[in-house]
Amino acid sequence: MKDTYIHQGKRKKLLEELQRKGIKNPLVLEAMNKVPRHWFMDSGFLDHAYTDKAFPIAADQTISQPYTVAHQTELLECFSGARVLEIGTGSGYQSAVLVALGIELYTIERQNILFKKTSLLLPKMGFRPKKMIFGDGYKGWPEKAPYDGIIVTAGAPFVPKPLLEQLKVGGRLVIPLGEDNQIMTVFRRISPSKFEKLEYGPCRFVPLLAQKN
Ligand code: SAH
Repeated sequence: MKDTYIHQGKRKKLLEELQRKGIKNPLVLEAMNKVPRHWFMDSGFLDHAYTDKAFPIAADQTISQPYTVAHQTELLECFSGARVLEIGTGSGYQSAVLVALGIELYTIERQNILFKKTSLLLPKMGFRPKKMIFGDGYKGWPEKAPYDGIIVTAGAPFVPKPLLEQLKVGGRLVIPLGEDNQIMTVFRRISPSKFEKLEYGPCRFVPLLAQKN
């Protein structure tokens, strides 16, 4: 897998575009700069790796738009050494950005074909999550709870209770809430029983797949 001067040049332009769109955190921008997005794209879309758009991956899913990845990463407010749970590994692009930030990452994928593909790919690229889990994100991953942050990368029709329960006090859940269209929402756990809800405007994600029983 190559990362040529041409790719690096295109990535620099993309980062400038993200800054124009409001991404400010230098650590987030630096992490985005470390991850060659073209490594995560299907061959038919390689030319578009550095345009600020979502693209199809396998199993009717999408690789998130770079702005969305940057925005969710900023809202998470987790940096080096923090323990984070991601719901929806997908292509692994968002996972790689979190690993590039120095985060101890646990990531869950519900579709076997994506889980298999991405769990081979990420270590090969040098972006190693602590653990990649094949399972149902609605349940979170209690084994390593509580987390400093939880990030959901698909549209959730409601807030899964286990995700709130698995947050540390002071921790943040970043979740696009809604059915067809979502509102980017953050829940901050301010005490064991209290959460503060913050909203960051409309967004569009593929839906979180129904809960497995
Ligand atoms: N962060 C990914 C986004 C992928 S799209 C990227 O940048 O590529 C959302 C992903 O969530 C898909 O891979 C989908 O299969 C997965 N997903 C959907 N429902 C899920 C669930 N209940 N538990 C875990 N993963 C789920």
